[in-house]
Amino acid sequence: MVSNSHGGSRMIASPRPPHASPRPPHPAPHPEAVLESGPDALLVVSEDGIILMVNAATERMFGYARGELVGTDHRMLLAEGFRSGFRRLFVALRKERAADSDAGAQHDDLPPVEAYGVRHDGTEFQAELTYSLLSTPPNPTDPVCMTVMIRDTSHRLQADAGLREAMSLLSATLESTADGILVVSAEGEIAGVNNQFVSMWGIPRELLATKNDDAVLGFVLDQLKDPARFIEKVTALYAEPAAESHDVLDFHDGRTFERYSRPQKVANQVVGRVWSFRDVTPARIAQDQITKAMADLAEQAAQLKALAFQDPLTGLSNRQLFNDHLAAALSGPCGTAVDLLLLDLDDFKEVNDILGHHAGDQMLIEVGRRLRTCVRPNDVVARLGGDEFVVMLVGSPDPDAVAKRIVESLKVPVWIDGSMLRPSLSLGLASISEDTVDASELLRRADIAMYAAKAAGKNRYLRFRPEMMKSLIQRTEMESGLRLAVDSGQIEVHYQPIVSAKLGVVVQVEALARWVRDGELVPPQQFIPTAERSGLIVEIGTEVLLKGCTELQPWLAADRSRRLAVNVSGVQLLHGDFAELVRAVTASCAVDPRQLVLEVTESVFFADDCRVIQQLIALRKAGAHVALDDFGTGYSSLGRLQDLPVDTLKIDQSFISMIRTGAEKLPILTAMIGMAHGLGLSVTAEGVQTPAQAEYLMNLECDSLQGFLFSGPEPQAALGPAIARSAQAFAALRGGRVSGNR
Ligand code: C2E
Ligand code: MG
Ligand code: MG
Repeated sequence: MVSNSHGGSRMIASPRPPHASPRPPHPAPHPEAVLESGPDALLVVSEDGIILMVNAATERMFGYARGELVGTDHRMLLAEGFRSGFRRLFVALRKERAADSDAGAQHDDLPPVEAYGVRHDGTEFQAELTYSLLSTPPNPTDPVCMTVMIRDTSHRLQADAGLREAMSLLSATLESTADGILVVSAEGEIAGVNNQFVSMWGIPRELLATKNDDAVLGFVLDQLKDPARFIEKVTALYAEPAAESHDVLDFHDGRTFERYSRPQKVANQVVGRVWSFRDVTPARIAQDQITKAMADLAEQAAQLKALAFQDPLTGLSNRQLFNDHLAAALSGPCGTAVDLLLLDLDDFKEVNDILGHHAGDQMLIEVGRRLRTCVRPNDVVARLGGDEFVVMLVGSPDPDAVAKRIVESLKVPVWIDGSMLRPSLSLGLASISEDTVDASELLRRADIAMYAAKAAGKNRYLRFRPEMMKSLIQRTEMESGLRLAVDSGQIEVHYQPIVSAKLGVVVQVEALARWVRDGELVPPQQFIPTAERSGLIVEIGTEVLLKGCTELQPWLAADRSRRLAVNVSGVQLLHGDFAELVRAVTASCAVDPRQLVLEVTESVFFADDCRVIQQLIALRKAGAHVALDDFGTGYSSLGRLQDLPVDTLKIDQSFISMIRTGAEKLPILTAMIGMAHGLGLSVTAEGVQTPAQAEYLMNLECDSLQGFLFSGPEPQAALGPAIARSAQAFAALRGGRVSGNR
């Protein structure tokens, strides 16, 4: 460091002129000049620390002139706290020198000492001091000098502080990030992790402390759904150290991490790899929810769209879609045949009332299915609502054949909830023609034809004919005419005798309403349905009851075993207090309510309203009898009989008409009568027209007989002879023996 020990005074003096000797081509700089120009302060101090000489850097560093420094203790240049120990140092150097010279080595320096220097102005700065012996005197006791080199290291402090700050910033950043970070060396060993990494992966600290990377990897892999892919990715990246990657890891516990990987570089050299893991589970769950919500919405929208055009029960087109198809068909090329087949199930209400809505629904579904099998795939089949369906044929060569096929298709029985049903339908067919190009007119014509089919006895199809309009008008006229008839007393009552099979005499008569219109009798089948629809049946029924009780009071009073039967519609049972009305009428006419029979059809028992049953129960309590009329028609069943509040079963004339010769076997009749008797009910046969029928029924122990064989319904004035005729007819059956009657 310092090469000339004799040049000390010259170092303190100003730099002297260069040597006078001729300069070599590349003159070496004079050592003194080197010392003078050096950035570090260089002092030569005596054994007791007194400054003997300094270089220019010392003056600059401490702000003293050389003259001020030489002769003073060099320790005044050091901050308090750094001044002691000089002596000890000096001794140590001397000892070391002695030891070195014994060993033949040359080693004069001690490691640099950190200290603080004090400038002339009192300010301090960080410095590094290096002490070394200047020369070795021949005599160990001779005084020696020492050089002290002082380097201003305050710049180092700043650099260190910057580094420390950068390090703390880095570590704070690493620890505060939500990402888990793992640094792996180029050799594949874990070089570092942040706390987040450890907690995200749940790696026990003890496991990490073992530095067993394989165990850590195993712990990580156990949590993943696809560990093989994890390994594959890692392997691929280590084969390509400079590559970056991004992928997603799925955990067994449902979490999802995003994985980023970048090479770790120092001076452009890849020294390892940084893996960062981000828990994106909440984001993924939110995304999944959004995706699901979007899918649900799309599905709902599709369902809503389908529902908007589809009948949800049968899956057929609905009214709106049908209207669209019809409009499109009618606006098609001129001359294209368009046929509408409008159909309505017969007595469907009874299926609902008797078997329940579930059975009703099943029947509608089955009808829809059968309709589809009767038409071509492109023909439109729609459910317009309730039990009303429509079929549209475009360009059909034979629409009548399709209509026939549809009616026939329902003849095959339907099994619903263990019951066999034979549904039937009424179908109206209307076709486009020169005077019907309008959709609503075509539909109206199909509707009129359908009503005509119903009026003609149901279970059939009819093609629209202009005359049908007339009957429609008649139907509407009927209602207004009937109202007038009720108000003006045009409703009369005829009575039909009922003969006791045991006694051979008339023990009962049935009151039947008659509308005398312009001198002609309108049959009940024509006006009773209208009366029921319009509610007029309430007034008609009351009129029949009142007239019956009034007109037959003497006949009833003559024999308390005689009875008067009146037909009661379900509408009447739902209107007001029917039981009270009956009580009031019988009381006012002096008729014993026990002589009254109320004929109801089975469907009244299946109305949702329990008032019907309550009324009948109240009437039976008052002594009136209840008869189940027209039994065996519609959807009635023997199985239900035992639950109904009835006293008598009236077997419908359609069953009686099955007896032709009297020699046939009719187990259904046997079963009906047997079952009714088993339940304690009496049985009346309706529509007995021939002696064979009467004989057959009596052999089955049928209790009462009613029919033209004995007498048809007659007005009160003609009832006496009718009753007598009936007894005679019965007597004729028994070989001319006439029991006393009347
Ligand atoms: P219903 O109560 O079953 O009455 C018996 C019907 O069968 C009567 O028809 C009667 O004339 C008819 N009849 C009787 N014996 C024979 C026969 O041997 N052969 C044939 N073919 N028919 C026979 P009607 O009077 O035309 O009444 C028809 C239906 O109208 C009645 O059937 C009943 O359901 C209803 N009806 C009549 N009057 C009233 C009433 O005042 N109120 C209610 N709610 N319905 C009524
Ligand atoms: Mg009747
Ligand atoms: Mg009847």
